[in-house]
Amino acid sequence: MRASTVPDRYAPPAFSPAPAVAEPAPRPFCPVPTMPSEAPPPVWKPVAGRVVILDAGHGGHDDGAAHHGLREKDVNLDVVLRTAAWLRAQGVTVRMTRDRDVFVPLPERSKMANRNPNALFVSIHSNAAAGGPNPFGVETFVLTSSFSDEERCRTALSRYNVPGNSREESRKTLRELTIRCRAQGPELATSIQRSLVRRLGEPDRGVKRADLAVLRETFFCPAVLVEIGFMSHPPTARKMVTPAWRDQAAAAIGEGIVDYMRRIG
Ligand SMILES: [Zn+2]
Repeated sequence: MRASTVPDRYAPPAFSPAPAVAEPAPRPFCPVPTMPSEAPPPVWKPVAGRVVILDAGHGGHDDGAAHHGLREKDVNLDVVLRTAAWLRAQGVTVRMTRDRDVFVPLPERSKMANRNPNALFVSIHSNAAAGGPNPFGVETFVLTSSFSDEERCRTALSRYNVPGNSREESRKTLRELTIRCRAQGPELATSIQRSLVRRLGEPDRGVKRADLAVLRETFFCPAVLVEIGFMSHPPTARKMVTPAWRDQAAAAIGEGIVDYMRRIG
């Protein structure tokens, strides 16, 4: 996707010249009531230079799900590449755990995230259901709450060194980062989920919690896993095969990420 074709919903409104100066209005007999003061405009945080790690689920010998002639690894990669182009057009720095059809072990994916503190980690998957009812819709996952922050901090401490003037200071930095990133995951997930539901017109299956390796092992970035649609649902699969649908999914994920970065960090 070329940068110039990507709509920039944050572009400032087009400049319009100031209206011609009118004759002063006659003074009113009584004071004009003043409008209540408006809330200050939100302070948008800059997006340029921020780092996003996009993780295309599966790859190589791991196809993921396969339905209606679609292989999950291919759909995931194509949507990741389109999302990367969309985000780069906004000035965001994008890193990908894979940009071609190769197998990348799950711990390597999280390690890449952990080497980029203050980035955002977004894993992209396509959903499938075996037999029974034929569900469809969009859902986004954050880490289960069954691990306490203390457990996660201990695990992170046992695996990573964080620079600091003293061991105590390093521990404090790592602890704060781990807790803050986890707390921000649901905000990021909600932003992406809303954007996907709006753009794709799919049912909203919600933001859910799960014990998924890429979420569990990512300590220093807000981390989410997006299931963009059910390949096992025939009408959805027919849409997922088209470049237009994949562009919409990519733009939706990109918008959700940028919206989060502008509002929260
Ligand atoms: Zn998957």
